[in-house]
Parts: sequence; C-alpha cells; structure tokens
Amino acid sequence: MPVSFFIALKPNQTFPVRQAVWTPATMPTGPTIGVLSVVERRSEKGIATISRYAVLELEFVGGRRFKVTKPGGKEVYYTFLSASGPEYDECDCDGFQAHNRCKHSEAIRGLQLAGHLPMLLERIMAGPKQNIEGA
Ligand SMILES: [Zn+2]
Repeated sequence: MPVSFFIALKPNQTFPVRQAVWTPATMPTGPTIGVLSVVERRSEKGIATISRYAVLELEFVGGRRFKVTKPGGKEVYYTFLSASGPEYDECDCDGFQAHNRCKHSEAIRGLQLAGHLPMLLERIMAGPKQNIEGA
C-alpha cells in the first residue's frame, strides 16, 4: 500500500467534517505528483462523499499551479497557489467562482502548508519514494 497523509479541512455549510487525503506518487518526478482525495461528511460517522483527483504541477511564475483531474478526465481544474498568500489563491472550478474558495484550493494549500508538496528540485533530490509498508 502506498503511504498516505491526512489533513483536516475547514468545515463548510454542507459538510462539517472534511479532510484531504494525499498519496504522493511513487515516482515523484513524473507528470503526476500524487492523488488527492477530498473526503466530506455531514456528521462524524456520516457517509463519506469522496472526490478523487490526479494532481500534476505545471510551471508557473508568481506561485504554483496545479492541474487537478478526476479519474476519466471529465473534470479538470487549474488551481493556483499564490506566492503572495492564500487570500490570492485561485481555482477555475464553479465553486471558487461562486464562493471565492473551493475544496481544490483549500486541500492543495493545506497540503503545501503541511509540507507534503515539495518543489520539483526537492523531489529529485529525495529520489523515488520508498514503499515502507510493503518492504
Ligand atoms: Zn476548485
């Protein structure tokens, strides 16, 4: 099993219990840097609504830009983390256009703050991820 990381996301009006699950790619220098799942529940033991995305990092100036794709490629979003701070983050999904925040930008900013999204050079220096649990 690949190693996953969990971070809490802020509650919103629909889902008081929210978290992001991040599974870094085993070849972290490839096009996909990991898989993001946003898990949302209406109560602590409620049924989970899970949104799963492959995450690619794109070259960008002034921040970091990520391509976030649902399996099958039907939903693709571009999420921008601003070097100027979270209040300048953006995403092109409908949620962000309506509310000025969304699960994609919240989850990716949260993962970045928790140290789970090293820059490309740091990933190259670290080498391929070891599958500790399977060793
Ligand atoms: Zn979004």
